[in-house]
Amino acid sequence: MKISDKYIFSDSMDIALVKKALNSEMGLSGTSEIVREYEEKLGAFFGLKFGVAVSSGTAALQVALFSLGIKKGDEVVVSSTCPLMTVLPIIAIGARPVFCDTEEENFGLDIDDLKKIISTKTKAIIEVPMWGYPTSVDKSREFIRSKKIPLILDLAQAHGTTLGGKYLSAYGDISCFSTHERKILSTGEGGFLFTGEKALYKRSKSFSQFGFMNGKDFGLNYKLSGLQAALGISRIGFIDKQLAIRARNAKYLTERIENPFIKEFHVIKNSKPNYYTLLLKLNFRDNKRAINKMIDQGVPSDIAKYKYRVLYEFPIFKKYRRRCKKSEKLVKSITTIPVHPGLKRKDLDYILKVINNINA
Ligand SMILES: *Cc1c(COP(=O)(O)O)cnc(C)c1O
Repeated sequence: MKISDKYIFSDSMDIALVKKALNSEMGLSGTSEIVREYEEKLGAFFGLKFGVAVSSGTAALQVALFSLGIKKGDEVVVSSTCPLMTVLPIIAIGARPVFCDTEEENFGLDIDDLKKIISTKTKAIIEVPMWGYPTSVDKSREFIRSKKIPLILDLAQAHGTTLGGKYLSAYGDISCFSTHERKILSTGEGGFLFTGEKALYKRSKSFSQFGFMNGKDFGLNYKLSGLQAALGISRIGFIDKQLAIRARNAKYLTERIENPFIKEFHVIKNSKPNYYTLLLKLNFRDNKRAINKMIDQGVPSDIAKYKYRVLYEFPIFKKYRRRCKKSEKLVKSITTIPVHPGLKRKDLDYILKVINNINA
């Protein structure tokens, strides 16, 4: 048996709304009415005011960095456990990524390490709650605010994740999301960002639309197309339903794990993961071997798929290398298990059979 890690969302409402967009007089460009409508619907869902739809999650990060005025020679702190897509936009804008260690039990920035690396050159800090598991961003935010450094949250994997009863986007100065096929809200490709500050919103809009072509301001074309906005509008309505199914699947699995070397990843107090995947904490003599045994039996892992490791071990980031010991331990102690709505009860039972019988 082979468990798929891919979930392709489809619903008849998608077709109805795309058709409506195609037949409307509004047009499908990134400045059309339908994109504005999508931004409004996103704002209503997340309870945030200033949203900008863009062409990808990577674009959202680059737009965020630009809108904060980050430029060549500046430093941007980023956790060493995030995916390479978070770091590439920092380099694209000419700034230098500085890798920060994480906490031992979750992907939050380690405040003690953060204190060591921030300087007058630090112009932004990016935190990334991997696989939708919350970080203690309420605590790190206090420290970051006291230093007057803007906090960007890369929530590409964290649609719907809550901390203290609020979506994580409530905690950042700018929150960036992706709506790539694999994410919980998907438009094939796409992204968006939110900020509570009007000035940042204006700069983000301008940068993603050629500086409004006023010949004064710099910008590029990072607009989302109208067809994707139509899909997004259709699918926002299914986020909560998806989250409920994912949580139910995750619960079904965690309640039945009997392997003494496996437990659920630590969920911090007063928070709720979105179960983008179920994260497991492994305590085998050889975790890599255990993951490979699962894969051999058809249970996939993002850890193997994306060669997950601390970022400075990738050749492209070697020159920014800075040991992050807790992160190194963290990345070697986990694996992901799919819990998406495409899975049936028999798939979940099969996953359980495999993981409960692993010894390595
Ligand atoms: C998917 C992802 C991105 C990149 O988003 P794209 O829409 O593919 O450009 C960035 N950061 C994280 C954490 C992601 O999961």
